[in-house]
Amino acid sequence: MKIYVDMDDVLCETARHLCRLAERFFQRTVAYEQVFQFDLQEVFGLTDEEMKRFMALSHRRDSLLAHAATRGARKSLLDLRAAGHDVHIVTGRPGSAHAATAEWLAKRGLGDFPVTFVDKYGRDAHYPHNPDDPPTVTLPELLAQKFDLVIDDSPSILRHLTAWPKTRIFVFARPWNVHYALAPNMTRVNGWPEIRRQLNV
Ligand SMILES: [Mg+2]
Repeated sequence: MKIYVDMDDVLCETARHLCRLAERFFQRTVAYEQVFQFDLQEVFGLTDEEMKRFMALSHRRDSLLAHAATRGARKSLLDLRAAGHDVHIVTGRPGSAHAATAEWLAKRGLGDFPVTFVDKYGRDAHYPHNPDDPPTVTLPELLAQKFDLVIDDSPSILRHLTAWPKTRIFVFARPWNVHYALAPNMTRVNGWPEIRRQLNV
């Protein structure tokens, strides 16, 4: 199978890290379990100006490297590949996050998985670009590709992925997607142990 695996909150614990950033730099205390929506400006109650600083902070190298790996993610990726699957990491991070993302993956023995940077949220123009950054793929360009299986957590992306009605889609259970209405090809999965059970890996 050709498999699309999202990065943030599928391979690493991004929201937990962002909660710590919001507390440390903006004195906003929100528990991960209370992140019920994907709009972080709303979740943390940040002004537009604070949100710009928050996004810049969250994409700094030290911040991206500080993300904890999601339980079971590393071994599952390696085992999926060993079972013959073609695994792609498809992230909404900007191309400018490429170096830190590659470093994080390499430190966990995942450095040779292909990574596609997709402008999932229409924010790419707001990010800084370095000449060495890989190109960022647009959402229509991503949707023109074909995958057999998707693992993602973001409701805004899941809405776009209704363009792939024949693709099996695992909705990685997180507080912000508990109320997402699943399409017939979608299954909510509780972490990597359940994904492995579903796929017999
Ligand atoms: Mg995600």
